[in-house]
Amino acid sequence: MDSADDITAGDCPRANGMPMLGLGTWQHTDPDQCTRSVKTALEMGYRHIDTAQGYDNEAFVGQGIADAAVDREDIFLATKVATSNLGYDDVLETTRESLEKLGVDAVDLLYVHWPVDSYNAEETLAAFDELYADGLIHNVGVSNFEPRHIEEAVELLDAPIFANQVECHPLLPQEELRAVCDEHDIELVAYSPLARGTLFEVPEIQHVAETHDVTEAQVSLAWLRAKGVTAIPKATSEEHIADNWSSLALELDGGDLEMLDGLEKVHREVDPEFGPWHTDE
Ligand code: NAP
Repeated sequence: MDSADDITAGDCPRANGMPMLGLGTWQHTDPDQCTRSVKTALEMGYRHIDTAQGYDNEAFVGQGIADAAVDREDIFLATKVATSNLGYDDVLETTRESLEKLGVDAVDLLYVHWPVDSYNAEETLAAFDELYADGLIHNVGVSNFEPRHIEEAVELLDAPIFANQVECHPLLPQEELRAVCDEHDIELVAYSPLARGTLFEVPEIQHVAETHDVTEAQVSLAWLRAKGVTAIPKATSEEHIADNWSSLALELDGGDLEMLDGLEKVHREVDPEFGPWHTDE
């Protein structure tokens, strides 16, 4: 097995130009810790960083990018507009604030964080189109969108939808969403790709991990990659950041995939009452 040190940025596959393994930063609200984790990840080879207005850490993420010995243009940087800022003017204004905090001229991907609260498909997406046309965002993304929201957004947007970011891992394989995204050429980005540790206790995942002498975290990340899904695990210590990076050297075989695809247990880690999967209008 290759150690994280042997894996370079170039070894990370890309989906439509986006590195398929990135660093999530939710709960990285301690300035020094956040900055250090982002810098550590970038210097290890990560080239995709995921943040959000709602994480209250865009400035610390920006500092990590500034501190790392990696050029800005080599980094795929994504942020998300908070659900309270999805009115037309607020999208335009708060995105500029995000760029300022991040210390960049543009982000590579800007997501609608959730299609709830101040989300109004026509208004919100018109503002995203404007930011895209002005070059402040290189790609338009959506997050927590169900198929019906995707169909509506595809109709309304001039810009293509680049990615839908949703929870995805072997306990929540999102087969229907993956198929809808495929149909529209939309990348799926998996959040909570480790189910925040819940899947470390699943016997089948433990079995595959033991067989390959790797961790359960690596198994989940390799499973996502095998499905063509990009993953953004959040990790703090160098040890966890490196463990997740090592997943790039893990190739699951047909038997592993069959076992993981056959899991019957379904588990959703992020399940707020306002989650759009709870309503069908
Ligand atoms: P996750 O990545 O599934 O799990 C993170 C947890 O796993 C942390 O407690 C982390 O601990 C631990 N961990 C990381 N690597 C590990 C390893 N190799 N071995 C053991 N434990 C490990 O969950 P998440 O943070 O919910 O999701 C990832 C990212 O997705 C977020 O940070 C955020 O960027 C994004 N996200 C987006 C949405 C959305 O609505 N769009 C929702 C949720 C999350 P340490 O921190 O101590 O390393």
